[in-house]
Amino acid sequence: MSQRYAVIGNPIKHSKSPLIHTLFAQETAQDMVYDRIEAALDGFAASVQQLQAIGAAGANVTVPFKEQAFALADWLTERARLAGAVNTLKFTEMGVEGDNTDGVGLVTDISQNLGFELAHKRILLMGAGGAARGVILPLLAAQPSFLVIANRSPQRAHELKQQFQPYGIVEASDYAQLSGMQFDLIINATSASLADQLPPLPLGIFSPKSLAYDMMYGKGETPFLSFARSQGATHCADGLGMLVEQAAAAFYFWRQVRPDTAPVITALRAAA
Ligand code: NDP
Repeated sequence: MSQRYAVIGNPIKHSKSPLIHTLFAQETAQDMVYDRIEAALDGFAASVQQLQAIGAAGANVTVPFKEQAFALADWLTERARLAGAVNTLKFTEMGVEGDNTDGVGLVTDISQNLGFELAHKRILLMGAGGAARGVILPLLAAQPSFLVIANRSPQRAHELKQQFQPYGIVEASDYAQLSGMQFDLIINATSASLADQLPPLPLGIFSPKSLAYDMMYGKGETPFLSFARSQGATHCADGLGMLVEQAAAAFYFWRQVRPDTAPVITALRAAA
């Protein structure tokens, strides 16, 4: 019998995860079905229980339930524990295991799909919400020269600096303090692009040959990517590759099978 999976979120109807996992399953000849579930805002745990009751093997979790999934899991991978959020659940006879594949998805997209070497680079991460928190450990593991976290509410950036300092060279900042600095990679992990806004980055912040990466996808060229291009960033990327790569890491976590992501990214871009 096909093994069942689903993505749980609210809202969920625009989620691309069912399409991505269906394409992965076809490509790797895995016998599985993948649904979408819109849980009531106070109904996340009940949705997980229902999935377990029908014998599902796992789930993806998206906004706004990643912290609840973290709390619900019986045990966590190291990267999920440090992220404080879970986007992938595996249901086993012993209980529920929680993982966070967002960070590895971002790093795989940047280093493998975009061919951008992270080691010895100066990285700026904008934002201190769930998406930012999830990518710090994998970014530091790639051995950059340093990582600066900038946030509109600087206190949140300082808290992340405290938490992740044991894992690499990490600094915290507000936007004004960035004046005069240059970065090789700037990642927009804020939700500003959702509102067509641009975090207040100073001019001259992109080094030659820099990469501007907006985690947002599906909105065309965001204000951040337009700004980056006007400031001389050589490479600009949206978050579609990260989305597909985090899904591939979840697929591997469940099934120990690694799908080829390139045709799926191409298919999603063609459908956009
Ligand atoms: P959160 O709501 O947890 O965090 C939002 C962050 O954005 C906070 O740091 C907030 O600052 C900052 N922010 C919001 N508006 C502005 C603004 N106008 N100027 C400057 N900073 C601002 O969101 P998430 O971390 O969950 O998600 C962030 C983005 O990442 C979303 O666009 C989401 O779609 C994307 N994402 C993409 C993924 C992918 O696979 N491609 C995966 C996960 C997320 P403050 O603390 O001051 O409020």
